[in-house]
Amino acid sequence: MSAVRAGQEERAIEPARRSFLHALVAIGLAAGIRPRPLRAAPRATVVVVGGGFAGATAAKYLRVWAPDVDVVLIEPSREWISCPLSNRVLAGSLSLRDLRRDYRQLAERHGVKVVHATVTQVDPARREVRTDQGERIAYDRLIVAPGVDFVYDDIAGLQTEAARARVPHAWKAGPQTLLLRKQIAELRAGGVVAIHIPKAPFRCPPGPYERASMVAAYLKTRNPKAKVLVLDANPDIQSKKVLFSRVWSTRYPGMVEYVPNADLKAVDAAGGVMQLDLQGPVKADVLNVIPRSVPAASRTRPAWSRQGKDGAESTSSPTSRWPHAASTC
Ligand SMILES: Cc1cc2nc3c(=O)[nH]c(=O)nc-3n(C[C@H](O)[C@H](O)[C@H](O)COP(=O)(O)OP(=O)(O)OC[C@H]3O[C@@H](n4cnc5c(N)ncnc54)[C@H](O)[C@@H]3O)c2cc1C
Repeated sequence: MSAVRAGQEERAIEPARRSFLHALVAIGLAAGIRPRPLRAAPRATVVVVGGGFAGATAAKYLRVWAPDVDVVLIEPSREWISCPLSNRVLAGSLSLRDLRRDYRQLAERHGVKVVHATVTQVDPARREVRTDQGERIAYDRLIVAPGVDFVYDDIAGLQTEAARARVPHAWKAGPQTLLLRKQIAELRAGGVVAIHIPKAPFRCPPGPYERASMVAAYLKTRNPKAKVLVLDANPDIQSKKVLFSRVWSTRYPGMVEYVPNADLKAVDAAGGVMQLDLQGPVKADVLNVIPRSVPAASRTRPAWSRQGKDGAESTSSPTSRWPHAASTC
């Protein structure tokens, strides 16, 4: 009965409401204002953690393909430096400046809101992330793209920052690239550059072999009696084997030496010695140790997950626990 009455009342006020709306639209049009839907749909927000290739690309194309979605990119660095091509900085044929970009275009061209901060916690229940700046940023969907962390646990002698400052990885482009470049440029005549490659999987499988080739290209003209020692923890070259073997034997004969199954156990950073499991101690003037890597946050940032007490719950596969999250790791 009451439902019928309610329906009758609704129908009764309907003509009056319709004419009121028409009047509003007419006023708006006369004033040059375009009519808008009375209740705009709420805009969804996607938060992207990490502004590397993965996060920045996801943020840009979300805005391109879904302009109605708000995108917030959270990244601590104010500039991005490309790892691709950074081996050329070691050879002196590019400068780090050539590889730098800032985040302004993402904001200005694509309307991505860029927040410079580090995400310290993800709260999937509240659907918000917290940052080291004390902000809480709410999301409808979350993309987690924080890259990798380097792991030195299994290499004795490289636990301290001081040791790592002598033995750069240069596996993230930036100050470490410049440090290794300086060491190579200052190498004594006929000196040895040793590059250690971790067991696969590692980022950019051709990268270390490309690095050996670029360093050899530089030394060939500047320090032709120098040597590049490629110490590989793997049983063989992991990518483009035919290409690299041919380049080393034809362009840099006697300069590049490749040693497989070179499992690194310890480093004496001050003495310039790498202790290999099978081959024993190897001395070199420049030591470049590319460490093992794991998806960032899976090991070092358990606080990202409220449930994770021991780091066992990994943000590298958050989708199992967090239905609104995706990960690029
Ligand atoms: C020497 C070298 C050469 C390479 N060459 C090539 C190549 O030729 N071609 C190719 O395809 N690939 C190449 N790669 C690999 C390529 O660089 C990586 O695959 C790529 O950078 C991965 O991008 P990403 O966005 O996943 O991670 P990253 O580039 O590491 O970006 C992760 C971002 O997340 C941010 N972040 C981390 N934690 C947080 C947090 N808690 N809160 C907010 N932000 C956070 C970091 O600051 C970082 O900017 C090369 C790599 C190296 C080292």
